[in-house]
Amino acid sequence: MNHRFRITKDHTRITPKSTIQKAIDFIRETDLEPPFLLMDKAKVRQKVHAIGKNIRNAEVYYAVKANPDIEVLKLINSLGIGFEIASEGEMSVLESIGVTSDRMITSNPIKTFRFLRMAAESGVDYFSYDSAAEVDKMREYTPGAHVYVRLTVPNEGSEWPLSKKFGVEVDEAEELLLLAKKKGLNPVGITFHVGSQCTNMYNWNSALDKAKDLWDRADRAGIKLSLLNIGGGYPIRYTKDVVGIPAIEKNINRAIYQKFPKKTRIFIEPGRSVVADAGIFVSKVSGKTSRGDEKWLSIDVGVFNGLMESIGGIKYSYVVEGSREIKKWTLAGPSCDSFDVIEKNILLPEPAIGNYVLILSSGAYTISYASEFNGFSIPKTILI
Ligand SMILES: *Cc1c(COP(=O)(O)O)cnc(C)c1O
Repeated sequence: MNHRFRITKDHTRITPKSTIQKAIDFIRETDLEPPFLLMDKAKVRQKVHAIGKNIRNAEVYYAVKANPDIEVLKLINSLGIGFEIASEGEMSVLESIGVTSDRMITSNPIKTFRFLRMAAESGVDYFSYDSAAEVDKMREYTPGAHVYVRLTVPNEGSEWPLSKKFGVEVDEAEELLLLAKKKGLNPVGITFHVGSQCTNMYNWNSALDKAKDLWDRADRAGIKLSLLNIGGGYPIRYTKDVVGIPAIEKNINRAIYQKFPKKTRIFIEPGRSVVADAGIFVSKVSGKTSRGDEKWLSIDVGVFNGLMESIGGIKYSYVVEGSREIKKWTLAGPSCDSFDVIEKNILLPEPAIGNYVLILSSGAYTISYASEFNGFSIPKTILI
C-alpha cells in the first residue's frame, strides 16, 4: 500500500533518514498488518561499534532486558560483544543461539534460586551483589565465583532512575567485599548504575568518585580489586538532543584514567543505547473522538503492548500519515484500561482512521515489557 509520510527535520533529528526510509520502504512492500516493530540492523551495528570505543580496556556486555528478541540477539552476537543477563529465560535464549557462558555476566544483585542454579551449572562466573544474604547464596551455588559489589550512586538527570532498588553505601560495600572474601568468593570489583537514559554526563563522575573511595578502602583492607563495571545508562534521542556516546565515554575515560590503576578492566552494560534508536513501531489509527475539550486518538500500540515506558515519562516522537493540520491530542492505546494513555497534550498532524503512525526510537524496553493484557497480541519484531 502506498502510505505517504511527511518526514520533517524534527524526525530526522531523532532518527536518521536512512532508518526512517528503510521502515517506509518495508511498509510499502509488505501486507503485514500493524502493529509491528522494525529494527534497523545497520543502526544496531553502528551503535555496538561505537560503544566502548573511547574507554580503555573496555569490555561490552549488552543488557538483554532492553530487547531480547532472538534475531536481535543473533545480530548482536555476531558482532562479538558479551551479554548481561538476569534470569534463566535470558540465559536459555542466549544458549540456544550458541553464546557460551564465558560471554555472559549477571549484574542482578538479587538472583532467584532457579536462575542462580542454572547460571552455576552453565559456568557463568561474574555476579553482582549488594547484601550478605546474597553472599551466602553464591557461596553455596557458585563457590569461588568472581563477584562485584553494587554501590548506590546519584541518579539525578536520569529519565528512568534505578538507584532506589539496588546498591549500598561505601561503608557497607566495603564490609560486603570483606565478607565475600571470607566466605570463599572472589571479590574483584565494583559496579553501579547511574540510571537509565542518563542525560547528565556528570552522574558518571560522582559515581566514579564514590567507586574510587571504595576501591582505596578495599585496598587498605587487603582486597586488591581489578574490575570496574560502570553499568548502563547511555542516553538516546526520543524528542530531545542528548550528549553523544563519544563525549560521555571520553569524560568517563578521563575520570577512570585519573583515579584507577591503568590495568583496571572496565565492563560496560549498555541496553537502551544499543537498540532503542534502531527501532520504529508501526501502528495504525483505530479511533478518533472528542471528549469534552479533549481530542482523543487511539492507536493499536499502547502502554500494555509496547509503550510501558510512557507512563514513567518517556516521550516518543511520531511520524503520522495524514494531513498537515496539527492538532492537540490525547494519544491512547488499544486496551480498555484507563491506564492505557500514552501521552496527553501532544501535537500531531491529524490522521485518518486506518492511517499509520510510526513511533521513533522504540527499540528498547518496549517489546520486552509488553504483555497480552486484554487479548492484544505482542507486536512482532522484524529486522530490516
Ligand atoms: C537494565 C540494566 C542495564 C542496562 O541499562 P540501560 O540504561 O538500558 O543501558 C545495565 N546493567 C544493569 C545491571 C541493568 O539492570
